[in-house]
Amino acid sequence: MKRSALCLFTAAAALLFAAAPFAARGSLGAKPAVFENFRLGTYVRLSLYGARNAEEKLKAADDIIVSLENLFSMNIPSSDIARLNAAGGGWVAVSQETTRLIALAVEMADFTGGAFNPALGGLSSLWKIGSPDARVPSGSEISEALKHTDYTKIELRSEKGAHFAKLPRGMALDLGAIAKGYVADRLKDFLSDAGARGAIIDLGGNLDFIGEPPRGGPWRAGLQRPESPRGEYFGTIESKGLSVVTSGPYERYFEKNGMRYHHILDPATGRPAQSGLSSVTVADSLSYRADALCTALFVMGRRRAPGFLKKHRDIIAVLVTEEGEVLVTPPARDIFRLTSDDMALAARGDGE
Ligand code: FAD
Ligand code: MG
Repeated sequence: MKRSALCLFTAAAALLFAAAPFAARGSLGAKPAVFENFRLGTYVRLSLYGARNAEEKLKAADDIIVSLENLFSMNIPSSDIARLNAAGGGWVAVSQETTRLIALAVEMADFTGGAFNPALGGLSSLWKIGSPDARVPSGSEISEALKHTDYTKIELRSEKGAHFAKLPRGMALDLGAIAKGYVADRLKDFLSDAGARGAIIDLGGNLDFIGEPPRGGPWRAGLQRPESPRGEYFGTIESKGLSVVTSGPYERYFEKNGMRYHHILDPATGRPAQSGLSSVTVADSLSYRADALCTALFVMGRRRAPGFLKKHRDIIAVLVTEEGEVLVTPPARDIFRLTSDDMALAARGDGE
């Protein structure tokens, strides 16, 4: 079986950044202090402008990332999520932070009609997309796993300052489509409180910003052109306090017998979503919302996403169809700029 491009890419990234995680380049002027490392299964890069003791603050920010990864990762056996997934249906003591994220995930699942579903852990463990062991599960494995994805059955309880969660037997959580956003929100709060005048929080494509760039004006996020080399953009989004998050099928996938299998699963079929979209970007003041929403809109796809966006007119989103047409929702129009001259803007981004 072919290894996905991403497996090779992330392995190289781990080596590159583990050697020199901190690269302080001045703390107050136009040059940021930078922290880079491999975290949350991806590249993480924090750039901090205008903060005193920037290296200390970046170190404290990394401690936050590591502590949250240790709670939320499915791959760390001692994490809250891994213990919950292994509990076979019993109550498990977890941190308050974990119950908070699970509650937000359930809320986003309700809001998106289940297109974003935090209870797909059984399915993602079958497919293992993004790992060298990725494979196509059998139809019966998929139907069995689909029986355990009813996120409304997740239970949370707090008692005398302690927090507990319970999943039905057979269910497993996978918070991979929301946890990076949640971590970005926590980092933004921490770095703002620490006095950063400007910062870029980049958690492998989950972008968030604080303040303004040293030269003034708004921050601008470049939107990755689907299927093109990393760093090739088709447009930009201006961010004044908004997190900008993109989901797409073009980085985490594997190929078998000429078919491409990507990592965003359709909770209705248990298989990679047949979306008709090649990328979805959402901007929101809360990064966890942007994260969950862009995954959900990708699952809804070309056919269903415009109807959803028509009902929820405040969502700032840019969708690219497989044909290269760019759909921009009304509130995104003032802040999105198309920079690629071979892609066309659709007349309306909300289905009309
Ligand atoms: P998104 O669209 O935001 O999320 C897609 C991911 O969410 C899928 O990979 C799957 O996990 C899940 N998902 C799929 N379909 C749905 C759906 N319909 N609804 C809800 N969720 C869905 N990767 C590694 O390779 N190794 C690691 O050790 C590792 N550790 C991680 C630890 C944490 C705490 C987190 C949050 C992620 C980790 N990852 C790891 C995953 C990695 O960073 C993923 O690339 C990332 O979570 C997927 O994000 P995305 O922005 O690419 O896609
Ligand atoms: Mg997401």
